[in-house]
Amino acid sequence: MILALKTHLIWKVHHFKMLFQFLLSSNTSTLKNLLRFKVLVCIFLSCGLSVHIKADTKQTPTIAIIIDDMGHSYDQGVELINLPFPLTLSFLPERPYTKKLIEMANFHKKEIMLHAPMQNSMGFGLGFGGLKKEMNEATLKKTLIESLQKIHYMVGINNHMGSVLTTDPRAMKWVMETISQYPFYFVDSRTSSKSVAANMASEFNIPNLSRDIFLDHIQDREFIQTQFLKLIALAEKNGTAIAIGHPHPETVEYLSWALSKLDEKGISIATISSLWQIRHPQKDIQKELAKLPNQRFKQVRLAHNSQ
Ligand SMILES: [Zn+2]
Repeated sequence: MILALKTHLIWKVHHFKMLFQFLLSSNTSTLKNLLRFKVLVCIFLSCGLSVHIKADTKQTPTIAIIIDDMGHSYDQGVELINLPFPLTLSFLPERPYTKKLIEMANFHKKEIMLHAPMQNSMGFGLGFGGLKKEMNEATLKKTLIESLQKIHYMVGINNHMGSVLTTDPRAMKWVMETISQYPFYFVDSRTSSKSVAANMASEFNIPNLSRDIFLDHIQDREFIQTQFLKLIALAEKNGTAIAIGHPHPETVEYLSWALSKLDEKGISIATISSLWQIRHPQKDIQKELAKLPNQRFKQVRLAHNSQ
């Protein structure tokens, strides 16, 4: 931005010089000169103004990072919460440090999500709140609602694993039907390329986004750096990009170094809800979410916020 304004200023001074040189070289009468001067100044100012507006409204490339699987590792959780950047933290329900870290995250103004465990093709255990394909409608919805009620201050949901469940339109319909009762956005973690989760969320008018990059499925600084640079490149190409990372020591260490360099690289970092807002400048996420909730949830939310 500073460079743009500098260029703009140099451009302005250069054109003023040209303008005066033109007037001095002219042989016409003083009155004609004055008129010509006025017209040229008007053209010049309007050109200058349009350049100025363009420079001011250009959106800087923006990234958002969700840290999944919050609630297990206390030390890494605390370090992430204390990073002075708008990370979005997604908590598994009823894990050893979920409650404690959520309170801390809320105090440090971090955006909070539910990381809803969903059935995967590897057969990994799901723990509390696990949603499975064989569940009937009532059980699946009840299980999801119990998880929502465990995550105070939450504003969104993404899936933990879920390579099986997110490809099942019937289960996803029940999940989105439930979420649409509450003022929450949804992020498809995209653990399967065949996921129907984001499309189903759109059918229920739930503000939704999809993950672009996984940062740390190999826990090695060089690998995380490669993924992070891919994220930046995507944001520079498309305006915005979303990554998912985890509370691994290597990720925490890398992010605390890399995020402090973003400013000098001309990249912004935002929460998920802010990034949604950037992608939908004509809409207001609060209004979109307000269209969704029912009365029953408003009471739950009030209870959360008063605790
Ligand atoms: Zn996860």
